[in-house]
Amino acid sequence: QMTDVEEMMEDVVDRFSLQLRQKAITAKVDVEEGISQVWVDRDGIDQVLDNVVSNAIKYTLDGGSIYLTAGTGEDGQLSLAVRDTGIGIPKKDLAHIFDRFYRVDKARSRNMGGTGLGLSIAREIVRAHGGTILLESEPGVGTTVTVHLPTVREGGEQP
Ligand code: ATP
Ligand code: MG
Repeated sequence: QMTDVEEMMEDVVDRFSLQLRQKAITAKVDVEEGISQVWVDRDGIDQVLDNVVSNAIKYTLDGGSIYLTAGTGEDGQLSLAVRDTGIGIPKKDLAHIFDRFYRVDKARSRNMGGTGLGLSIAREIVRAHGGTILLESEPGVGTTVTVHLPTVREGGEQP
């Protein structure tokens, strides 16, 4: 669908407003000027964003922050990023983080709920759309997940 990027990002934050408030986490949305309308599979991208943002909230301590940004990447791709100030992921786990059922440190994740499927599903959806998903993290500092998606500007053709 033709989608307003800023609205799409604000809507994600709205869907998590309760969890954000409960953990006193600040969410900020920053969308590059001039990208406004893009052609994306809104349902698919919503699911990707929900999975990534739910992680950002789950693995960020009370009082932290998450930042959602959208911009144009190489080749006019849409680039969406979710950054958090959370606990981060140890280097040795980074290679496995998109594997099904993989969770860092079972003790740490046990109380948090979930099955370890969120990121693998997100990657499946992104790949099905011809895009890429990348996770960068530093323990104790935070995590950034970046999604690149092929898209077309207003007036262009459907990919
Ligand atoms: P589910 O998504 O199925 O509810 P989950 O969140 O544990 O469960 P994934 O979303 O696939 O599973 O994430 C896999 C693991 O990666 C998590 O268990 C967590 O250890 C780590 N992880 C993911 N996102 C973050 C993040 N933003 N900060 C720190 N660790 C993260
Ligand atoms: Mg998850």
